Amino acid sequence: MSRSNTMSVEIEIHDEKMLVNGEWIDADERADVVHPYDGEVVGSVPIASEQQVQQAVAAADRAAEASELSAYERYELLYRTAELLEKEVEEMAQLMTAEQGKPITEARGEVDRAIQTLRLSGEEAKRMFGEYVPMDAQRGFDRTHAFTQREPLGVVAAVTPFNFPLNLMVHKIGPALAAGNAVVGKPATNTPLVSIRLFEYLDQAAEEVGAPDGLVNVVTGSGSTVGDVFLESEEVEAISFTGSTAVGKYIANNSGMKEVTLELGGNDPTIVWEDADVKEAAVQLIGGACSNAGQVCNSVERVLVHKTVEDELVAALVGQAQTLTPGDPFDEETDIAALIDDDAAEKVQRIFEETVAAGATVECGGDYEGRKFEPTVLSGVTPEMPAAAEEVFGPLVPVITVADFDEAIEQANNTEYGLEAGIFTQDIDRAKRAANEIDAGGVNVNTVSGFRTDHMPYGGFKDSGKGKEGIKYAVEHFTREKIVGFHAG
Ligand code: NAD
Repeated sequence: MSRSNTMSVEIEIHDEKMLVNGEWIDADERADVVHPYDGEVVGSVPIASEQQVQQAVAAADRAAEASELSAYERYELLYRTAELLEKEVEEMAQLMTAEQGKPITEARGEVDRAIQTLRLSGEEAKRMFGEYVPMDAQRGFDRTHAFTQREPLGVVAAVTPFNFPLNLMVHKIGPALAAGNAVVGKPATNTPLVSIRLFEYLDQAAEEVGAPDGLVNVVTGSGSTVGDVFLESEEVEAISFTGSTAVGKYIANNSGMKEVTLELGGNDPTIVWEDADVKEAAVQLIGGACSNAGQVCNSVERVLVHKTVEDELVAALVGQAQTLTPGDPFDEETDIAALIDDDAAEKVQRIFEETVAAGATVECGGDYEGRKFEPTVLSGVTPEMPAAAEEVFGPLVPVITVADFDEAIEQANNTEYGLEAGIFTQDIDRAKRAANEIDAGGVNVNTVSGFRTDHMPYGGFKDSGKGKEGIKYAVEHFTREKIVGFHAG
């Protein structure tokens, strides 16, 4: 069924179900999914009961036990899923824009990344090597040998946020399946539709390679209901969570002996030094602060600029911000559309107003209407102002001026978070110092904090998380290492 609405493209209404034990099932209650730009309903999903989540976990547990897929078959499963997704890039991108509100050009980019992440995961299935251990290196252990092997954990639960609804799910499901686990996915309540479509492809591919029912499951609904079943279940061996620090800490505190990967919030700094290519830095900073309307975990949250280039940088940032086209996310020209919901919009508005009231200067932007917020450059920001002190998750670019490099490093670390950081400089020693002294999971030289490829080790320090994603590193988290020793009698 489709219906006309105020969107510039016609989106089919997606009333979806959940995949549990190879069956698509409904629930007693359902939740609407709305288009953030105009509030139109674009679909609905079941609100899983506790019992349904338990059924999904039990099905996954049986499938993990029963599955005899070889490494090559797991590679085939993931490659085939990528192939199915590749045939539907435009449809998936439109569905993503409909539920998440990011510009259609960015949605296409995310679908492409998800295809690559699936393929990289498939390749990794073939590389689960162990190592030979020379036991006879210790005196008295002549003629003993050992090797290590990696084994799947069993059931991996994957919980994802709204901002990259497809690729972040693939980041968990891909490596978990590559390693031989069964999975239960739980997408964000406001953006579940592309994930459900992904599970349709996974289900088809799993059947084609001969996987048992229940190897791939997806449930939707309340995060706390689903999350608590995962936490309480003995069968769930690993929880891979991406989302807010508050929920991440709750999971960390209640997960007992489970393997837990937490990819959480950030307040990422990017330093612009006096020897930087300021114009190039401004282009990247605005891109890094405003893509997906600033709703990116490693977006540019704070710009730390040396006082000698402050005026030049602020002028370049304003010039660059004004090149962005706001509008309907389905328009090809649109660069910035709307924030995910009213709560998110109210938070960005509060932070903006409090920061201006505290003395910051609005260099450009600052207008908002509902969920639509202009790209906004703020100068004269000091560390205690909310735009600098909090994770904004909106298109604000707070510029903080620093007098010397010690202050730049001190301010970069002046946050409870430690996800990523950037530095623009031509001086290799300065870049090296930033890399060594900034307390974050990644430091990017001559680019912004928001730099990521899908196979690199990725994960924050401090309140930004625990454990690493990136295919190879996620496979390590989703497996356990066993040593097998041989004593030659
Ligand atoms: P959120 O924490 O509100 O929700 C994330 C997911 O957790 C959703 O699926 C939600 O339903 C579920 N959830 C909610 N309560 C739960 C509970 N008690 N137990 C288990 N699951 C629960 O986050 P959000 O608003 O969707 O996403 C924004 C946040 O995610 C930001 O802080 C952002 O920085 C962070 N993020 C981090 C990364 C990273 O890689 N570090 C990537 C993207 C987003």
